[in-house]
Amino acid sequence: MQLSGKELSFAIRSDLALKCQSFREKTGRLPSLAVVLAGDNPASITYVSAKKKACDEAGMICRDITLPGTVSQEELLATVASLNGDPSVDGILVQLPLPEGLDEQLITRAIDPAKDVDGFCPENVGHLLLGEKTFVPCTPKGIMRLLDEYGIPTWSADVCIVGRSNIVGKPLAALFMQRGRDATVTVCNSRTNDLAGHVRRADIVVAAVGRPGTITADMIKEGATVIDVGINRIPDSTKKSGFRLVGDVDYEGVEPKAGAITPVPGGVGPMTIAMLLENTVEAACMHEGLEFCDL
Ligand code: NDP
Repeated sequence: MQLSGKELSFAIRSDLALKCQSFREKTGRLPSLAVVLAGDNPASITYVSAKKKACDEAGMICRDITLPGTVSQEELLATVASLNGDPSVDGILVQLPLPEGLDEQLITRAIDPAKDVDGFCPENVGHLLLGEKTFVPCTPKGIMRLLDEYGIPTWSADVCIVGRSNIVGKPLAALFMQRGRDATVTVCNSRTNDLAGHVRRADIVVAAVGRPGTITADMIKEGATVIDVGINRIPDSTKKSGFRLVGDVDYEGVEPKAGAITPVPGGVGPMTIAMLLENTVEAACMHEGLEFCDL
């Protein structure tokens, strides 16, 4: 079974478009997201324009703030402070990675937790770990939604997450281990002994490494669910751009053995964007004293 984030995210975004209209009827305004991009990293430019397009299509406001790669930490902090204080902004996203010399932790911490739709600030990370209501980081939230919608249970499952980043591996581990999810979680990193052995035991494998071909068929248990978070550009002279996107999983080799698998592109990526929009609508509801589920 292929887990199509493309199809599911389309359905979620269509529903969010209706919710945005309902929000406007109740409040006289639309949910709004501010996206801050510093520098000219090509991948970041692509991600930001995809987020902006998705906001436009859902009928929400997206304010994009583009700063030069030479922006100082003080200027970036001042930008975030002004968005924090702007009541017309519901959600703030600072696109990572930031240009060299800027402290990502400092900038992330400067975002008002009530507008932190990425769920990266320490307060929201703490709520997540405690199993409390918060803005769940978009990629882990999108992965859980994919599993839920395709009816893949996490209860008592052995889960192996390859990668321990603050934006994917760690928050995802926190979600899987919560009561109600009840998975047993292994989180691997670049120094893990016997990566293949850990992956082979798993009912659900999540690859979030950033290296093509990290997960191969011999590492996969028959029937396992395989979630490929990786987005890697590899040269391809047949493409106009000169490259194509692949994940961290050897899709061709793993697909026949897996019970379910996400493609790249069209798997986790579109879900991440859909969850960003959902978090922004949730933030807007919170700011207006509304319940998301009542929209
Ligand atoms: P990071 O570079 O922050 O983290 C990569 C992790 O992989 C690190 O924990 C690293 O270990 C681990 N790792 C590296 N090599 C190995 C190895 N050989 N064996 C086991 N673990 C290894 O990456 P991100 O989490 O930010 O992103 C991972 C990938 O996912 C990237 O391709 C990124 O583009 C993509 N991505 C996709 C998203 C989507 O929406 N689809 C969203 C976010 C990211 P160590 O900590 O020891 O260095």
